[in-house]
Amino acid sequence: MNLDSYLKAGKVASDVREAARRKNHIGSSLLEICQNVESQIKERNAAPAFPVNVSLNEIAAHYTAEPNDPTLVKEGDVLKIDIGVHVDGYIADTAVTVCYEPKYDPLIRAAEAALGEAVRLARANTKAGDIGKTIESTITKYGFKPIQNLSGHSLQQYTVHAGKSIPNIWTRGSSFSLIANEAYAIEPFVTTREGQGVVYEGKVRNIFGISSRKPIKDKEADDMLEMIWNRYRTLPFALRWLMDKYDEKEGRRILEILVKKKNVHAYPILVEGQGKTVVQAEHTVIPSESGTTVITI
Ligand code: MN
Ligand code: MN
Repeated sequence: MNLDSYLKAGKVASDVREAARRKNHIGSSLLEICQNVESQIKERNAAPAFPVNVSLNEIAAHYTAEPNDPTLVKEGDVLKIDIGVHVDGYIADTAVTVCYEPKYDPLIRAAEAALGEAVRLARANTKAGDIGKTIESTITKYGFKPIQNLSGHSLQQYTVHAGKSIPNIWTRGSSFSLIANEAYAIEPFVTTREGQGVVYEGKVRNIFGISSRKPIKDKEADDMLEMIWNRYRTLPFALRWLMDKYDEKEGRRILEILVKKKNVHAYPILVEGQGKTVVQAEHTVIPSESGTTVITI
């Protein structure tokens, strides 16, 4: 654990998130938003830990802009901007939901309140199940539903989802407790009372990650794999990040070969079961013996 790197990543992530929160994104394209956030991260001498997620409305997570993505943010849209920043592989993960239609404000307040309660509780030795219980009861008090199959997660160097889950609901037998000097992302997702409170994988997939570096003896695919490894290691990436070396069609074709050969896996978008609006709030915390640092505050 390198606390200095975590603190630096956290500060950059927080600055960039707040800039995104203040901005009016109506009329902007999702591509502009992604590029803008990612270049702000780089200007601050850090790197994106994953492609900025810009998930609209019933899409809860895992949408990032395609290379020429024409999607524009419309009035009434609910946009989750989920930002990952790393310094030497130490990752800060944070998200904000923006919306200019006041009717969604209570949903966003519920997510922020649940996150606040969860962060307050998150100490060394806190049971992950108790965090889930607090998140669920806070969201329920607001009259809404948590997304029960999305959760927070432990973080490790160059690994966004490092194996331990922090549930967003009370979970029987969720036995692990937070430990000092490990980083955790806590991220309540909230939908309306009419929502199913469950997400399913959609057809669209535009975030990828390396799962195996074993060459497949196809020169163009092996070259792409090598380039991805050199740039991103095991961190997620997007096709648009490869556009300095490939044109869109060629890049997509070769990437699909790597997906087919299982050298690269895709993260499909996650969509609310009843098609209802989803909002999200997220911070990264590091408990210590004496208290907890919210690195993305
Ligand atoms: Mn996130
Ligand atoms: Mn996360």
